[in-house]
Amino acid sequence: MTNRARKPYIAGNWKMNLDRARSLDLIKTVKGRLGDGGDREVGFFVPAIYLADVTAVAQGSPLGVGGQNIYFEANGAFTGELAPRMLREVGADRVLVGHSERRHVFREPDDWMGRKVRAALDADLLPIYCVGETLDERKGGKTDRVVKRQLETGFEKVRPDDAHRVTVAYEPVWAIGTGETATTEQAAQAHRTIRKWLVQRLGEAPAHLIRILYGGSVKPDNAKELMAVEDVDGLLVGGASLQADTFLPIIEYDR
Ligand code: PEP
Repeated sequence: MTNRARKPYIAGNWKMNLDRARSLDLIKTVKGRLGDGGDREVGFFVPAIYLADVTAVAQGSPLGVGGQNIYFEANGAFTGELAPRMLREVGADRVLVGHSERRHVFREPDDWMGRKVRAALDADLLPIYCVGETLDERKGGKTDRVVKRQLETGFEKVRPDDAHRVTVAYEPVWAIGTGETATTEQAAQAHRTIRKWLVQRLGEAPAHLIRILYGGSVKPDNAKELMAVEDVDGLLVGGASLQADTFLPIIEYDR
């Protein structure tokens, strides 16, 4: 049992990886190991096409299952997009918003972010809102400015009474999928900035309900030291969430 104020949240983002059979095997293995999962929250963000099958296998366990993206409208001529209500309908209870690959590979604009976070909340999906700077922005001393700008847009329509349903992930773009992890000092500094911004925007009590995850090349051998950083309330894990033998030790970082 941890004595943290906020329940640790370990999330796996499969991106466009695995196939149906391997997805279901992984869920079965993690489910079997998790027990009642009481002192930590574990969620998987899976390719939308596998959501119905994955949620069926996860049923009866505390595992959360979510989508990797949504569009903010409920219906309409938006070929290839998914409405939040559609993810709900196939059993998802959460969703990623603003992942760096959505922002940088698919060029999603900043001004969609607030609408996506709002649409997720209105559809009863728990959003993880991702922020983080590129290498050029860090080298140019712009990390705080970029992260605050992303928070401004993502939290545009978030009210203090929504706070307990929102999670923020700090994911420096230069650390995602590169094997390069932020140092504990870099993570601490960014998480402090985010917490301070949340307090100013939402007020002390609501801001302290929001978990801030770190993401960027998290592995079994760095999970413990990252989780020891103040204001790191959990981890968003890409590559290492694809196999039980790398993801389970991250979930059990303190054992
Ligand atoms: C991610 O997908 O959000 C991520 C952090 O990936 P990786 O752990 O592979 O860097």
